[in-house]
Amino acid sequence: MGLHVLKFGGTSVGSLKRLENVADIVSARAKEHQVIVVLSAMSGETDSLIEQAKHFTQVPNPRELDVLLTVGEQKSVALFSICMLARGIKAKSFLGSQIQIKTSNDHTKARITEIADHGVRASLKRGEIVVVPGFQGVTETGELTTLGRGGSDTTAVAIAAALKADVCDIYTDVEGVYTTDPNIEPKAKKLSSITYDEMLELASLGAKVLQTRSVEFAKKYKVPLHVRSTFKDVQGTWVLEESKLMEALVVSGITYTKNEAKVVVEGMPDRVGIAADLFMKVGEAGVGVDVIVQNVSKDQTTDISFTVPRSDLRKAIEVIDKHKDVLKHKQIRGDDRISKISVIGNGMRSHSGVAARMFQALAKENINIQMISTSEIKISCVIDEKYSELAVRVLHDCFGLDKIGNQEIEIKEVNDFR
Ligand code: ADP
Ligand code: ASP
Ligand code: MG
Repeated sequence: MGLHVLKFGGTSVGSLKRLENVADIVSARAKEHQVIVVLSAMSGETDSLIEQAKHFTQVPNPRELDVLLTVGEQKSVALFSICMLARGIKAKSFLGSQIQIKTSNDHTKARITEIADHGVRASLKRGEIVVVPGFQGVTETGELTTLGRGGSDTTAVAIAAALKADVCDIYTDVEGVYTTDPNIEPKAKKLSSITYDEMLELASLGAKVLQTRSVEFAKKYKVPLHVRSTFKDVQGTWVLEESKLMEALVVSGITYTKNEAKVVVEGMPDRVGIAADLFMKVGEAGVGVDVIVQNVSKDQTTDISFTVPRSDLRKAIEVIDKHKDVLKHKQIRGDDRISKISVIGNGMRSHSGVAARMFQALAKENINIQMISTSEIKISCVIDEKYSELAVRVLHDCFGLDKIGNQEIEIKEVNDFR
């Protein structure tokens, strides 16, 4: 008998009927294992709560917003536990504040710092199925917090890590992790396995199937993750350490994100320390920067372009203009119609030529590359937003991702992966 954590996302618990389907899956698993269930709010619920808060103001008080948002998941766990108990199966819900899922106090984007596990082990010992709301936590001083959109994944993985679970199943509305978003590219193929590092890049570059923070936890504590369908009982995708991987693809995924904007600062004096001054000011304003490009200088002046979260574009421009006396730029431009397309693959570590192939494929479609950034296992290009979907399809084709074998692997014992 092992300990399994099963997380179900919003669509999976989207109606009372779907909660019954979840109850079937959980009951079957509980015959052989101890089970902790982590649930999201029913689909649309979190959005609708945010909408309601915005009826009064576009910037609701973050503390109160968190009190409101925890309601969605609380409703799911209570309904689910009622459903299980009505079937004669022992189940008990515990809120984040009861288990003591401790977080930082950054309301609406808090980070888990500790899980105290109050009552969970005892409940499991009593043969109960433990039911936990995803997405919510509590600060040292007892304030309710939430973990950012998609945060239930992180709750599940953090609990699996804290209680040393044998596996963490992420049940969702697709059959696993695909070569790209299957809702955009119908030719996308399900991957049988993927490394933590690849998944980390995929998640942070736009594949919302797992929240990035959850993958960081999984990697750090070596929690084997199985992303799979709630609606079809088939093998999904295993997220594992590199050494346990079945097959390394040169490129295993394509993502795009439209949540960034580009800032171009033109005509700054090309002196030592100008980049430091610029990014210090931007950083002090609390704006994070991603891709950076500095042009070759001409006439002792230089241009620097960089990307920021789209919601921070105005703030970035304002702070730079405020420091015109130091930065001495001639002009500043903002563009929020950009998209970042990325190709990700562990095999890039040992294969060259991926970047050239990517650039060629985009050029063939007349898609201009505005900025480029790379890491050991990814290449990202900033392009005009209107070409996002086209670029995803072209790159998916160019790297032959629609042709990779649907390598169904036999997984008899999840413990094989530990
Ligand atoms: P849940 O509510 O179960 O947490 P999410 O909506 O957060 O589900 O994440 C699942 C969605 O992620 C899918 O419906 C799909 O549209 C999207 N997605 C984006 N990229 C990928 C990818 N590479 N593989 C699988 N799904 C992806
Ligand atoms: N309910 C939250 C959201 O919609 C958390 C989650 O579903 O993971 O973002
Ligand atoms: Mg999600």
